[in-house]
Amino acid sequence: MLYDEPRGASPSLTMSDATTILVDTDLERDDAAAAAMDLYLHLVGDGTIAAQPSDDEEARFRVLDERFVADTGIQAIGLHASGHRWRGDGRGGAELIDGGRENGIFCRYDGSFSIRCPECGERLAPGDDGSEALEEALAVWCDAPDSAYVACPSCATWTPLHLWRSPEHDFAVGHYAITLYGAHLQGLLGKGNAHAATALRHRLGDLAGDYTVVFARS
Ligand SMILES: [Zn+2]
Repeated sequence: MLYDEPRGASPSLTMSDATTILVDTDLERDDAAAAAMDLYLHLVGDGTIAAQPSDDEEARFRVLDERFVADTGIQAIGLHASGHRWRGDGRGGAELIDGGRENGIFCRYDGSFSIRCPECGERLAPGDDGSEALEEALAVWCDAPDSAYVACPSCATWTPLHLWRSPEHDFAVGHYAITLYGAHLQGLLGKGNAHAATALRHRLGDLAGDYTVVFARS
């Protein structure tokens, strides 16, 4: 399977399977671990999350700030850096080490999604006619992300995979991402309370407000 395993399905925390993922589609792979560690230290420091990761295969940090839980429905936060994984440091904290299965591909639990050509707007989904270039690009992304280009079956333009946007918010690739377990935060799409959405993005280090929103759905 090319994609990440289902997210949010662990029984260790009682919560909805609804999951919102904020993906930085621009950050270089080499900078992802530092970004994840920086946000971890901020969120632990201001009391938002627990310092110690859960034991799940996909480590997550429980939200301790009850107001944050009440305002957002978010019960736990995951921090992803391609090619890295979290583990307890034996002193009540966490460290981010090389290894693991984090490949920087974020999509629905069942692996389905559709994306749109940045040039002509044509939609493309895995399994469609002409989607071979997409499937190949997903495989290339895992090893050599800078070489992951997709040829549009409609206009024949080659564009980098990370520039293809998902109209349904069910796909993005990026080396650094933040998973919010417990809710689909539609407000991050600019609907509803813009001030709350901006405040949440700032709290999560998305100062420019440009992380791509992906909703994992069961
Ligand atoms: Zn096209």
